[in-house]
This record gives sequence, C-alpha cells and structure tokens, in this order.
Amino acid sequence: MKYALGMDIGGTRTKMGLVDLEKGTVVRKAVYSTEKEEAGFLEAALYHKNECIKEVKPEELLGIGAAASGYVHRGGRIDEGNSGFIPFFPSYPLEEKLGECLGMTCKVENDAAAGCLGEALYGAGKNYKRVLMLTLGTGVGVGFIRNGHIDDESSLIHLSGHIKVSGNPEEGGMRCYCGISGCLESVCSGTALEWKAAQAYGRPVSCKELFAQAEHNEEKAGKLAADYLNMLAAGLNQYIYIFAPDVIILGGGVAHALGGYTAVLQEQVTAKVHSRYKVLVTLSELKEEAGILGGASLVTVHSVHSSLRKSI
Ligand SMILES: [Zn+2]
Repeated sequence: MKYALGMDIGGTRTKMGLVDLEKGTVVRKAVYSTEKEEAGFLEAALYHKNECIKEVKPEELLGIGAAASGYVHRGGRIDEGNSGFIPFFPSYPLEEKLGECLGMTCKVENDAAAGCLGEALYGAGKNYKRVLMLTLGTGVGVGFIRNGHIDDESSLIHLSGHIKVSGNPEEGGMRCYCGISGCLESVCSGTALEWKAAQAYGRPVSCKELFAQAEHNEEKAGKLAADYLNMLAAGLNQYIYIFAPDVIILGGGVAHALGGYTAVLQEQVTAKVHSRYKVLVTLSELKEEAGILGGASLVTVHSVHSSLRKSI
C-alpha cells in the first residue's frame, strides 16, 4: 500500500488527510482552525499528522503535499506578495519548514492547481486528458492539468480568473483588486453573487437559496441566476480557446448550489477549437476533499515531473 498525507490550508480552516494513493480515497481526516502564528501552525500540523498516520507503516508513507493560496515559487516558497489570511506566509519557505517539522518529503502547490490535480486523478476529470477546474468560492481559482501532470506554468494559471467577462457597469458588482472592472472573479465568485443577491433582496441570500428560488421561477432570483450563468459562460468560452479542455469542472460553494443549472451552462458553452471538439461541463466529485487528494498526489506527481524537467 502507498499512502501520502494531503493538506489543504485555508484562511480559517485547514484540512489534513491520509490518502490511499492507489484507491484515491481519504482514509483518515482532520479539520482544524488555521493557526496564524508559525509555531502554532507547525505544532498543529505535527499533531494532526501523527493522528492521521497512526495505523500506517513508515515505509508505506511517501510524504506530504500541501495546497496553499497564492503563487508558490519552485521549491515551495510562498510569494512575498501573498495577501492571504495567514500573516507569516509572504516569502515563507513552506515546503522546507513543513517537511523539516514533520520529518518527511514535502511538496507545496497553489490550491487551485492542487484541487484540479485531485479531480484529474481521482474525481470528475479522471477519464480526460485536459482538465480545467474553476473553484467558485470566496474568489475564483483556476487550475489546469494535462495528462495527469501540473505544467510548470500552472502556478500562474490560478490567476486567470481575472479575465474580463462583463462590459456592463450594472453587472460589474464589486470592484476587483486586480483593477479590471467586470473580471470573472468580481462577478462570478460566491462572494460577488451573494453580494448582488443581498443588494436585490435587502437581506443576506446564500447561493443555494438563490438558485433554488430561481428554479421555482421567482423573478428576481431568475434574473440574477441568468445574468450569472451568462457571465460564467462568457468566461468558460474564453478558457476553451486558451486551454482546449476536454472537461471543465466547477467546484466551490456556487458549484454545489447550481443544481440543474449545470445543463443550462453546458448549452451556453459553445466555443469550438475544431469541428470535432466537445467539452463536458460538470461538477466537482471530490468536493471538500479535492485539495487533500490533490495535495497528497503532489508527492508522486511532482517527482515524475521534476525528473522530466532535469532531462530537458
Ligand atoms: Zn479581478
């Protein structure tokens, strides 16, 4: 048996799991608050690592892979411009420190790329060569996996949620920190959709409630849902020309609320890179565990990739 630990580091919650790499299943899992100080962060990681690997023989455990927000430099150092929610993360050599603390091989990757890797290997993308994943949550994270590997350039792809999809100031919603008015993230993140719904209803409305109301033909919700799907489809049609994915997987809070609207989105995704081109729009299968499974598989995927890189 071959196991690896996967760690999905969020601003408020961290998930760690022991993954059976052959079956693609999470065998044991811990979800805990993300510590904001380095010492507490490492201490919590060590405690939960020991809990997760209790029943595993040391020779069966290959290492740990962690998914973190923002740009991750080669060697697993978090970029200095990281504006995430963990104060010590900018410029932090996470791969080195975490590996040292846990006493095992460690790999770190951007969370959107790692989540996509999890889906590509074990989830909704496992039968496809070119897998694109959008995580529609607080922001919009984008990952792309080709033939089961993260391309070197994937570390930058997570930012491609800032393509422009809306020229209408009324659809623009919140102004994005990227400086582009009407970028996909500013109009299609869960945060943006709930903000617009709150403006329309004068009270907080969750994505789930909004799409459920729209399915019951409630007029305001129907208009918001239709606008949202138009803008998301505009983004997906652009990604098709850039990545030519075989499958587009939607994850995050909005995706889990979409329900039957996934079929509507499929109809609106009309871009074609050649006459036989087909793309499936589908929902994440791994849901909350995509980052854990993708994180764990970094341990093996990266080693293959690094050896290829050396031989070029
Ligand atoms: Zn933006």
